[in-house]
Amino acid sequence: MDGNRRVISDGAVLVDGSRISNVGKSSEFHERADFKIDAKGMVILPGFIDTHVHLAQAMMRGCADDTSLIDWLQKFVWPLQGNYDAQDGKASAELCMLEMIKSGTTTFLESLLHSRYGFDGIAESVQKSGMRGVLSKTVMGLPSYGTENSIMYPGMIEDAETCLHEVESHFKRWDGKANGRIRVWYGARSLGGCTRELYERIAKGAQKLGTGVTMHLSEIQEDVRYAKKEFGMMPAEFMNEVGLAGRNVVFAHGVWLTEMEWRILADKGGSVAHCPSSNMKLASGIAKVPEMLQTGVNVGLGCDGGPSNNCYDMMREMKAASLLHKVRTMDPLTMSAGTVLEMATIKGARALGQERQIGSIEVGKKADLIIVDTRKPHLTPTFNPVSNIVYAGEGSDVDTAIIDGNIVMENRIVKTLDGEKVVRVASERAARLLERAGLDIVPN
Ligand SMILES: [Zn+2]
Repeated sequence: MDGNRRVISDGAVLVDGSRISNVGKSSEFHERADFKIDAKGMVILPGFIDTHVHLAQAMMRGCADDTSLIDWLQKFVWPLQGNYDAQDGKASAELCMLEMIKSGTTTFLESLLHSRYGFDGIAESVQKSGMRGVLSKTVMGLPSYGTENSIMYPGMIEDAETCLHEVESHFKRWDGKANGRIRVWYGARSLGGCTRELYERIAKGAQKLGTGVTMHLSEIQEDVRYAKKEFGMMPAEFMNEVGLAGRNVVFAHGVWLTEMEWRILADKGGSVAHCPSSNMKLASGIAKVPEMLQTGVNVGLGCDGGPSNNCYDMMREMKAASLLHKVRTMDPLTMSAGTVLEMATIKGARALGQERQIGSIEVGKKADLIIVDTRKPHLTPTFNPVSNIVYAGEGSDVDTAIIDGNIVMENRIVKTLDGEKVVRVASERAARLLERAGLDIVPN
């Protein structure tokens, strides 16, 4: 993954500090390295960039399967999230990051952090994990979703002034920390969760701080009905009017966006985070990704959350993305392995406004690299490493992860987090959470 999409056999990457200082054939390297990783039989790739993640939902994996979206939110997801405390937030974030590192994700965009999850604790965990992450603090003003009024669980409701104030204070404390690995954005609630005025204030706030905004948009048809009824416009048309369609904006899903709205995004620079597994599982619909790409919209990939996907594995997500659009368009040429790999790397970097730093293996960029072990039956032979990784690979094939020049995982052992402890704490806390929320989940 570089400007020319080269595949270098017998390749090598030289890292100096946090940056890549040389890329090419290993036989042409003359620098003496202090330390070497033997990647024979493996493929070096830029780390994956997940553009739509809910850290707090990892601990709710499988809590609401085979359910409609509104029930999914109202009966399961919100009551559970609405009973989180800061220790739960931290435990879930660590579980999520452990899974992401182990499947090759090096950077993520977290879209909605409620205050009750404990922003500082989560940011400290990101710092410790070694990952690169954008943390978006939820901003909301109304307890609704689409045209459904007052449906939100009491523990999930937040006040607009407090939200706006908290984004600014988190930004001051955390943005740029951990050698620039941590960024702080606005996480605007979906249509129905904010007034027009609040969206305008978010846009102005982001401009003032020079930061980004992410929100769920046109995930379900209800979003379209709401925008038409309340504002007489299509969802992205409305977001453009309030100043939220520019290069610093990432819309999750965009399933029901229309051609007119793709043009707005292509023109203004806003990105879409495509979440094919989540959209399939919740039967939200199929985003017209090949058409969006053709129109010039920047589209990244996202795993969404524990109850919607139910995993945070970008390798599986790449395959889902490719196959879904092939069968929808009845065109096997569409959404090639190379295209989805771009979405999982360089296009994700662009969505986050970090395309000069990450998303490809080029001299001067941050050393965010993964090494995938292809010496496995399901990856043999390796005629085409790109299609092998996209169509036959799985997250557990990632052997090594390097972020910001630091080895975060080696031989599948994560060095920054205590994997056993993270899993144990998360399962204990998840059981207690279920009890507090008064939920009983029975396998159906
Ligand atoms: Zn989401």
